[in-house]
Amino acid sequence: MAQDELVTVDVSRLRARRAADDARSRTLSNSVAAIQKLIRRQTGEAITDFGMITKGDRVMVCLSGGADSHTLLDTLLHLQRMAPVRFEIVAVNLDQKQPGFPAEVLPHYLKTLGVDFHIVEQDTYSIVKDKIPEGKTTCSLCSRLRRGILYRVASELGASKIALGHHRDDILQTFLLNLFYGGQLKAMPPKLLSDDGKHVVIRPLAYCREVDIKKYAAAREFPIIPCDLCGSQPNLKRSAMRTLINTWEKEDPSRIRSMFTAMTQVTPSHLLDRHLFDFDAQAARDDDTD
Ligand code: SF4
Repeated sequence: MAQDELVTVDVSRLRARRAADDARSRTLSNSVAAIQKLIRRQTGEAITDFGMITKGDRVMVCLSGGADSHTLLDTLLHLQRMAPVRFEIVAVNLDQKQPGFPAEVLPHYLKTLGVDFHIVEQDTYSIVKDKIPEGKTTCSLCSRLRRGILYRVASELGASKIALGHHRDDILQTFLLNLFYGGQLKAMPPKLLSDDGKHVVIRPLAYCREVDIKKYAAAREFPIIPCDLCGSQPNLKRSAMRTLINTWEKEDPSRIRSMFTAMTQVTPSHLLDRHLFDFDAQAARDDDTD
């Protein structure tokens, strides 16, 4: 496929494919259908809670080929059909030229879905290999390069929102990483304005559990492409956070629910950030009441 080729599928084919997709959904087992319903409900709630998608939006869905981004695209396509608000979807895959990347898989799949899509070919693999010493984790530089390319493509496609497949567990892991190693009370925003103010990044799966997404993606037999074809070493700290969260979830699921809820109910006066809460003003008020 030519570089940066935009593929638009005609409307009648789109309707036919989506009808086929709905028919496939109807054949899911009860347990998978329940997960599908849950993911769709949680995604709808997150979109509403954070005002992620509004009328007339052109949403660029970043499809890496992993379970998360496949589930994101599948769910947004469903919500597009059901939501009272009209918005467009264009799927974008970045072919980073990793060895063994099966370049034909996603274009074939996206054609069968009947969704507009765009394949970007850019060799970030060579850059990352050149800059990062052998045996080190390359994901951080890779992600930064990918983000820059996706911002450029979003501008070219006129996308008003950039949707990423991060989910609840990614947010919790990031929260713990910042807490344990970064010295910051900070997670991953469900909605983010880029530094230059030109792009809005959204994470519609923010309320969805990783375990549900994995089960759903496996049941739907999405054509999964592993991210680690590049041979990067796993990020050991993030893996440790994942293990911690999974262990806690098994011991007491309410603990994880509480952690996540805590991020939605912050009390600045009971933390120690002098920029977030004006302790001097409070002291003055306290003096007045003495
Ligand atoms: S595993 Fe490889 S392709 Fe995936 S983010 Fe890390 S460096 Fe990039």
